[in-house]
This record gives sequence, structure tokens and C-alpha cells, in this order.
Amino acid sequence: MNGKAEILGYSTGITGAGPIQLIEQAGRTCYKSQGKITNDSAAKFVLMLRKLGHESVIEHSWVAVRFTGCSRAATHQLVRHRLMAISQESQRYCDESGFFFNNYYVVPPSIIEAGLLDWYRERLKQIDGWYKELQEKLKEAIKAGKTKGKVNEDARFLLPNAVCSEIVISCNFREWRHIFKMRTDIHAQWEIRYVMVDTLKQFQKLFPVVFDDFKIAEDGKSAALTKE
Ligand SMILES: Cc1cc2nc3c(=O)[nH]c(=O)nc-3n(C[C@H](O)[C@H](O)[C@H](O)COP(=O)(O)OP(=O)(O)OC[C@H]3O[C@@H](n4cnc5c(N)ncnc54)[C@H](O)[C@@H]3O)c2cc1C
Repeated sequence: MNGKAEILGYSTGITGAGPIQLIEQAGRTCYKSQGKITNDSAAKFVLMLRKLGHESVIEHSWVAVRFTGCSRAATHQLVRHRLMAISQESQRYCDESGFFFNNYYVVPPSIIEAGLLDWYRERLKQIDGWYKELQEKLKEAIKAGKTKGKVNEDARFLLPNAVCSEIVISCNFREWRHIFKMRTDIHAQWEIRYVMVDTLKQFQKLFPVVFDDFKIAEDGKSAALTKE
């Protein structure tokens, strides 16, 4: 599986106009220039803020994104960012058995390049089997009164980092810019880089004045902030 980003929503402001207009409403308070707001003044105003580096003002708008098909290894890197709201698939509550047969895991490109795909898949299949076996053993032990442990909660200790994990992240524009800077960089890990470049492309289409100073590399595998 490959990671995918789906934009679920973003702040629109009371007029419903959109996140750029909301930032303009807030930002113009500083200059008491709300009277200068027209139908097409927001983009120019927000671009001016970006170029001056007044990033605190763009914090007024947020975007929520659902990530699917990312490994738990990748989502663990995402959740290290602290200025965000997170809701993630719970391995305590969800039954992850069958992750192998449901193709619910990630294969690093190096595994394919090294000719190790069959070997890798065989190990994942074994682990899937061991996870199910442990679930059954725990169920029996609970039934027999030997333990009060929870089945999925404890069987998950056998799960590999390769298993996919769904996650929804909401944060403000300033934090998204920070995340793109850190995670689309050529030195970032390949999987998080892949999905964050995809996310950045979507953000650039929807909110160009906030994100079009990131340049995506010709091979599409990384991006970098350009100097203005
Ligand atoms: C290429 C790469 C390699 C990495 N390798 C490792 C590794 O080997 N081991 C590891 O543990 N982690 C690693 N990380 C994760 C990294 O250490 C951070 O946990 C992660 O980048 C999120 O923190 P952040 O500072 O970027 O900012 P965020 O949490 O996204 O916060 C955004 C910004 O807000 C400000 N901020 C947030 N919280 C505070 C605070 N409490 N006090 C002051 N200012 C604050 C800072 O300016 C910060 O940059 C790596 C990250 C990258 C991008």
C-alpha cells in the first residue's frame, strides 16, 4: 500500500468565503483596515503577510487531513509534531488480524530493489498468524479466568511497524508549513516524504498564496522552501 492524503475540511470563516478570507479578516485588525476588504483582496493580503514573515496571522486557519495507507512507522513520525489535533486508528480497539491477507501493510522500496519481497511477505504472513494465535490464546485464558487482559490491546505487541494505520490530523497553516518544511525535505524518510509531497501538492492547488513558495523537485520526490 502507498500513503494517501485526503483533505477532509478547512476553516471557512463566518461568511463561508474560505481560510484565506478568514486570515484577512483577522490580520487586518492589526492595521484597522477591514474597510479595504473587497471580493479579491484576501490573496494579496495573505501573500504580503507571508513575504513579511508574519506567520502568526496564518495560524487563524486550519486544515484537517485523513491519511490512509501509511505504515505505523510513518504515522509515528507524524505524531511527533506537537501543534496538532490527532485521531488515530486504535490498535487497542481494532482487530488487526488479516493485515497480511488484506494487503494492509507497507513494503519499503529497498525490499523490492534487494529482491527480498517474497522473503518479507512470508515473514509478515507468519506474524499475522502469530497475532491471530495470540488473540485465541488470550481469549481462552480470559474465559478460563486466568487473566483480565484485553485481547487486541495485548496481541498488538506482536504487530510490525509495517502495518498500516489510519490517522486524521488537523492543524493550522503555520504548522502545516513547518511540517512540509521538515517532512518533504530530501533528507526526510522516504515514506513520510512521499505522502507529504502529495499533501503539499493538494494544499498548493487549494491555497496557493500560503504554500506556493515550496518548490517540488522535478522527480516529484521531495520539496524545498524557496527564498523570496
Ligand atoms: C529528518 C528528521 C529526522 C528525525 N530524527 C529523529 C530521531 O532520530 N529521533 C527523534 O527522537 N526524533 C527525530 N525526529 C523528530 C524531531 O526530533 C521532532 O520530534 C519533530 O520534528 C517534531 O518537532 P518540531 O520541533 O519539528 O516541531 P513541532 O512539534 O511540529 O512544533 C512546531 C514548532 O513549534 C515550536 N514548539 C513546539 N513545541 C515547543 C516547545 N515545547 N517549546 C518551544 N517551542 C516549541 C518550535 O518552534 C517547533 O519547531 C526527526 C525529524 C526529522 C524531520
